[in-house]
Amino acid sequence: MTHEELVRLDHQYTLQTYGRFDVDIDRGKGATLWDLSGKEYIDFTSGIGVISVGYGNEKWVEAITEQAGKLGHVSNLFYTQPYARLAEVLCRRTGMAGAFFGNSGAESNEGAIKVARKYSFDKYGKGRGTVLTLNNSFHGRTVTTLAATGQDVFHNYFFPFTDGFRYADPTIDGVKEVAGHDVCAILVELVQGEGGVFPLDKAFIHDLAILCAERDWLLMVDEVQTGVGRTGTLFCFQQYGILPDVVTFAKGIAGGLPMGGFLVSERCRGVLGPGTHASTFGGNPVCSAAALAVQDILDDAALQQVAEKGQYLRERIEGLELPCLGKTRGLGLMIGVEVRDGFTNKDLAARLMDAGLLVLTAGHNVLRLLPPLTITKEEMDKGLAILDRTLR
Ligand SMILES: *Cc1c(COP(=O)(O)O)cnc(C)c1O
Repeated sequence: MTHEELVRLDHQYTLQTYGRFDVDIDRGKGATLWDLSGKEYIDFTSGIGVISVGYGNEKWVEAITEQAGKLGHVSNLFYTQPYARLAEVLCRRTGMAGAFFGNSGAESNEGAIKVARKYSFDKYGKGRGTVLTLNNSFHGRTVTTLAATGQDVFHNYFFPFTDGFRYADPTIDGVKEVAGHDVCAILVELVQGEGGVFPLDKAFIHDLAILCAERDWLLMVDEVQTGVGRTGTLFCFQQYGILPDVVTFAKGIAGGLPMGGFLVSERCRGVLGPGTHASTFGGNPVCSAAALAVQDILDDAALQQVAEKGQYLRERIEGLELPCLGKTRGLGLMIGVEVRDGFTNKDLAARLMDAGLLVLTAGHNVLRLLPPLTITKEEMDKGLAILDRTLR
């Protein structure tokens, strides 16, 4: 099939909900992709933070293949080893007390919202179901997680949205301003991803944890993008000196297979009992086996390297002093690069793609880099050379 044939087929039969780049992708290895014509791309996107351990990672392929041959699916009415083992590994590595597995980031955040509302209902009864989120946040595309998302552009068309969300500026005064007796929890991204790669201030998060304890609000962290090693620790909260009540994850957890879920702290362990929450595919044995392989690959040494690689990329990019790019920010391999006035991120991304480097955009005018965590120095240097050549 040629590129033109594929584009025609896609346009004829699929809902055109994605503003796709004019690129098709056929196969990948490590952090390198090839399209149908055989053209090579260095991938600084990893499928929006999903391909955590690289394309075609051998351990990952082996784990999936073996599990698929053994047991592809069974309902959650039965015990399976991959589900329990994955929960154990995640709890041990984070200090959290229990795990639930679903399929996507939005579903994971919906689960977190359910934990918060039920925790509060069990303890205080009705009238305390409001969840605070932050301005410029992103929490998903379902009707409820759109409502949770603190950006007006997402609150359109699909009325009525789910009630019970208020949005705060990311300061302790900003949070207090929208607080009230109806609040049960606050949900935050520690590095706002879609919003433009903004790491939250550590002092703010420290004060927020104290406020949550004072008011018996659950402190919930959306780590759908920051989780699974992306920022240089297994979860980003581990760099913020807090132990949240709920941590959600998805994107990179199973290295490319669809999986999400959340971890809860000891005090929230019993909140969701039998019959209160479920997901048909959640914790599917093949996805869980893939996620276990990811955990195995992303050991502490690999996480240390993520921090180092992030530092290297940022220093090199700033060192190029390209006329269209400004400062970089972020944590680990979650990097935002400011685009200077007079240039647009979409246009720069398209030019880079043409030249063989895939990058993402975010926020107002930011290039976002989320390379596979296992990217090699050679691949980073190849990508940087394309960046230099194309944007100079
Ligand atoms: C991507 C993302 C989501 C949504 O995840 P889906 O799997 O697309 O539902 C939610 N929160 C954050 C922080 C994300 O980056």
